[in-house]
Amino acid sequence: MPSPALGRCRFCLSEDVALTREHVFARWLVERLRAFRATRAAQLPADAAADARLARLVTMVCGACNAGWMSGLEVSFRQAVFARSRPDHLAEPTRRTLSRWFTKTAMLVAHSANKELVPEEQWPDLTDTMPDGMRVGLARLRRPRQPLDLEFGYEESAGTESARLTGVAVQVDDLVGLVTRRSSVTPATTLWPLRSHTLRWTTLPVVSRLSDLTGDGAIARRHNPT
Ligand SMILES: [Zn+2]
Repeated sequence: MPSPALGRCRFCLSEDVALTREHVFARWLVERLRAFRATRAAQLPADAAADARLARLVTMVCGACNAGWMSGLEVSFRQAVFARSRPDHLAEPTRRTLSRWFTKTAMLVAHSANKELVPEEQWPDLTDTMPDGMRVGLARLRRPRQPLDLEFGYEESAGTESARLTGVAVQVDDLVGLVTRRSSVTPATTLWPLRSHTLRWTTLPVVSRLSDLTGDGAIARRHNPT
């Protein structure tokens, strides 16, 4: 093992701390998604390269953040989404957990592709709340063909690589979180900012593909970090 790099943690802003590479998609999730392939998607051609690419995405983080808020967020997300018996309503703590998890994941995925979804000065906000100015939408994907997927949405104006990233859709199983700086998450339902309306797992809007969420008047392309 190479010794970890010393530097500044972008989340807690500690200086000269040991930074290690941590996977954006945690091991438990990657294993869960392999199980998805082995069962529900057995008849589909496995896109092993795409799976491996997602599983390889890493971020640099300090030990305290990794073992602290990140680990806690992961556990909360896992319980919220994959618990055997799940309450029908998405209560406020669950909405917070999902919003933060999808935002953390979307911004790190964008960062690994040299795009900015959440400005770095706002990253520390995620350690206990949500960065200002972000919206999170939630929807279900009809007949997911793969267990994990991503799609980037871009500003309408330019069709080039320099086009500004406006949102990232992250799909886990049949659940899709859209994390965006736009003023609307339509056709998804608003998960963040918190509202008082009742949210139920069973009545989430259903979309056919991720670009239904990222491509609203925007130029959407498949995520391809390499
Ligand atoms: Zn840290």
